[in-house]
Amino acid sequence: MPQQHIPKADFGICGGSGSLSFAFPAALDDPRVELIAEDLHFETPFGPSPAFTHFAVTGPHGRREALAIKMHGWRRGIKRGDASLQAFWVFHEAGVRKIIADGGVGSLNHLLDPRDVMIPNDFIDLTVKQDIYVRGDHLLIMRQPICPDLASHLYAGASERFSRIFARGTYLVTDGPRFESVAEIDYMKRLGGDVIGQSFAPEVFLARDIGACYAGVYIVVNYGEGVVKEWEHAEMKSIFFDESESIARIVLDAIADADLHVACGCSELRRPSMLSIPDDRPEALRPRPSSAPEPETGV
Ligand SMILES: [Zn+2]
Repeated sequence: MPQQHIPKADFGICGGSGSLSFAFPAALDDPRVELIAEDLHFETPFGPSPAFTHFAVTGPHGRREALAIKMHGWRRGIKRGDASLQAFWVFHEAGVRKIIADGGVGSLNHLLDPRDVMIPNDFIDLTVKQDIYVRGDHLLIMRQPICPDLASHLYAGASERFSRIFARGTYLVTDGPRFESVAEIDYMKRLGGDVIGQSFAPEVFLARDIGACYAGVYIVVNYGEGVVKEWEHAEMKSIFFDESESIARIVLDAIADADLHVACGCSELRRPSMLSIPDDRPEALRPRPSSAPEPETGV
């Protein structure tokens, strides 16, 4: 039964395969966490939302509230782009200002091994999802797609729990859900990706669309096909189950510790679209309404 009232929250959490096997945040049993409500569904212009968990975290900056979804809001029978729109519409209505994601990724860069952790600072979007925006009234500048402040908190949390962490890298996004062929991985390596997965976009630009900061923490769960050696299903499974709690704790620490008022620069990278700016030029310079007759210029 959909709820009508969307609670206010500062943080939006896009839980992914990195924390999938862990009940976030309740199973962390962390004294900083207050669980407010679970299994919240909301009506959105894009269809019923995925289930949200509403909770609060008290840290050095005081108490802040968060709304979290599992597995990016993906559900069978719902297109992934639609699931993202539903989730980010709710984040926007809630007034979310910081969005944190996690996930498992494959490697493209041959320096990476399973269980390495990356906080990507850039991305290449090879997905073919179209018309993905909640507001659509701003130019979304991707010069700095990842919030450097939020990323630094994720890096600090990862440093306490993992031995190899990379503070930068390029996440190459595919539609999935299948994995890639050897030739595709070879092609994507040449494009400049370090890791490959299916969840970084549209989240990263929907966050900018709604005026929120975005950063994510990703754990390598397999080698891309043809990279280093064949990946093993048993190892992937053990990473999903063994490392979920650590990934969830990294996310929780970032919610507790991030400064909501830091001058990170993200808000400067979202400017009004030319289509949404009032045209205050002299009338003669403005385009005629489409219903007006064409001028007889002979061309
Ligand atoms: Zn930011």
